[in-house]
Amino acid sequence: MNTFSARNTHFGDGQWADFVRGTASPLDASAMQQHLDSGCPDCQASVRWLQQVVQSAAADSNLQVPPELTMGAVALFDRATADTGWTRRLKQIRAVLILDQPLEWQPAGVRAVSAPSSGRKQSYRAGDYTVDLTLEYPTDVAGEVVGQLGNTSSGSAEGVLVQCIQSGRPVGETTTNRFGEFILNFPARKRSTLRLVFRDQERRIDLPLEGNRRQLEVGGV
Ligand SMILES: [Zn+2]
Repeated sequence: MNTFSARNTHFGDGQWADFVRGTASPLDASAMQQHLDSGCPDCQASVRWLQQVVQSAAADSNLQVPPELTMGAVALFDRATADTGWTRRLKQIRAVLILDQPLEWQPAGVRAVSAPSSGRKQSYRAGDYTVDLTLEYPTDVAGEVVGQLGNTSSGSAEGVLVQCIQSGRPVGETTTNRFGEFILNFPARKRSTLRLVFRDQERRIDLPLEGNRRQLEVGGV
């Protein structure tokens, strides 16, 4: 980076980023300071902009970003960059709810050390598949679904794409592990869809991912 030779040689944003964070070498920093002092408007603009970025990043690190906001941002990103509609065009395997009960009915387990939370345990059967879900609401804004996909035929349940769909778009996704297990966050106060995608079969299973019933009933949507 110590290549400053001419008075009118500009520096890149990457170099200016080091400069404003104070991580440029002293030699570079003094050359860059000289360049700034020479009055280059482009580089002065870069430095002003980067200083704002650094300041707002410092302020951001003091903030707790709500998961829902993050998920919204991810959704926006997807919207801009990806074809998010392809899973919707897959043929649907009809799912039947075979078990639905409050989480409190389950025997106390390891998770019981935390404050009692509302939640549900659900099981579905869909074609050759079984889907067991535990829905929990660890915070006001985020729900968590822990699931296991089983295959009653000889096929595998590994590597299946699992998506949380809101307003027709994925706001989060993961893949089942070799035991068919997955874990995914979803917006706690809204209804979304849990979608399991079987790419090679061009099929999907859609399940309702319910918001926190207590909050929905109290009107906390
Ligand atoms: Zn310049």
